[in-house]
Amino acid sequence: MPMLKYLIIILNDASVSFCHYESAKTGKKEAGMISYDNLNKAVAFALKNNLKVNFLYPRFRPGKKYEKLIEDVEHVKIVPRKLGGVYSDAITVLEAGDLRKENKVTGTENIILRLSSPELKILPAAVKEIARKGGRINLVIKDVENFGDSKISEYRKLLAEISGLLIKKSGENSIPEVNFLTDRLMLESMNNCDAGITHLTVAPDGRLYLCPAFYYESGENSIGEIRNEINIKNRQLLELKYSPVCRICDAYQCRRCVFLNWKLTGELNTPSRQQCRMSHAEREASGNMLEELKKKNFKGAKGIEIKKLGYDDPFEIAVKNRYSIQEFKNFNS
Ligand code: SF4
Repeated sequence: MPMLKYLIIILNDASVSFCHYESAKTGKKEAGMISYDNLNKAVAFALKNNLKVNFLYPRFRPGKKYEKLIEDVEHVKIVPRKLGGVYSDAITVLEAGDLRKENKVTGTENIILRLSSPELKILPAAVKEIARKGGRINLVIKDVENFGDSKISEYRKLLAEISGLLIKKSGENSIPEVNFLTDRLMLESMNNCDAGITHLTVAPDGRLYLCPAFYYESGENSIGEIRNEINIKNRQLLELKYSPVCRICDAYQCRRCVFLNWKLTGELNTPSRQQCRMSHAEREASGNMLEELKKKNFKGAKGIEIKKLGYDDPFEIAVKNRYSIQEFKNFNS
């Protein structure tokens, strides 16, 4: 069973969202801040358990006392556009509005870009810009639930367009990195989010959650206080081997977001059709891109195969092959 590797600490209710959820909007700076005592407890927990920390920042610096404590532990700062450039070691999260204002990606090279489906049209320009800088885009789509047939086919077209851009910008040894197309080229097994398995979250209320999305959904989703023995109810449902659909899948770049699973299917271990079809569209586009890269003698494509599939949702195969889905569903009861 994989071990806990890192802790996410939400410094303020209005801290930037880096994933498939929205954070809170608060007015005053101090409102919604994690207390110093709780931050101290969270940092001590991380140090004792040898965990790295991802700190989620609001739009302002948290003050000297907090910053000193933050520096006590190995960490990554994840910051909104407003703090981009303030910390040299931070990862900046950008929204569509941040790109429009300046018509460029910003000075930072490794960004998380959160877009909703109508905003995806700005993606090619963002990819061009990041390619120019030799950076990386981690795309998070904010409205996965809206991806029915027509949005999936638009997404497929967009993936083909961006693949073309990446192929053009690739050299013999390098290709601009965008998670949804290039990650699959480098992976040999699932690279999922693994919330609740490799990471946990400490929220501004000082309690633990599977990930920030569960906190913002409801305080009732807390899995308990910060302490060394953590018991997560039905923890096995978070694991790949207890997901009959995901365990037979090779769309390795998929985040396998257990929050979206829970929201859209009511079960932590069952992905939504939307999520599976999007990940398979990406997988297919990566496969097509790989063939073109091979023609260009791109060294990173050597020895990699992404087979063509006859389906775009592994659920169909799980059922056809009589994987006992019921057997796994019983863990929910
Ligand atoms: S479960 Fe993982 S991928 Fe999903 S919202 Fe939480 S952190 Fe993001």
